[in-house]
Amino acid sequence: MKKYVKPFLVNVILSSLFGLINSLYQGNFLYTFCISFLIQFILYYITSNVVLGIFREKTKQLELSKLENLSTILDCAYCSQKNIMTFIPDQNEKTQFICESCNKENTVIIQFTVARTTETLPINSLLVNENKTI
Ligand SMILES: [Zn+2]
Repeated sequence: MKKYVKPFLVNVILSSLFGLINSLYQGNFLYTFCISFLIQFILYYITSNVVLGIFREKTKQLELSKLENLSTILDCAYCSQKNIMTFIPDQNEKTQFICESCNKENTVIIQFTVARTTETLPINSLLVNENKTI
């Protein structure tokens, strides 16, 4: 709601300003106010919905293009034959492959596993030889 109050107030203030300026030159305040309000409303609608929608879609496409292809060896769910598969993770499409052995379609389910982050311990290097260190 607050998102729409500020643009509405700015629109009313600017329309009033245009109406006042026009009325100083013998113009009609109400007519200028209404036309200015309508034009600003249309411009606001275009910039907030259409232009931002296009910008979001382009950003999403750039993010998807940055994803690297994933290659892995997967067992077929029907015949257990190993298949090499390369795919791009995409939230809009199912990830599927056709087995090279039995020609049946398999769906890939991606699961995430969490692991602890390990840190290296500060250990002094061992002396194997007097001249070499590991
Ligand atoms: Zn198969």
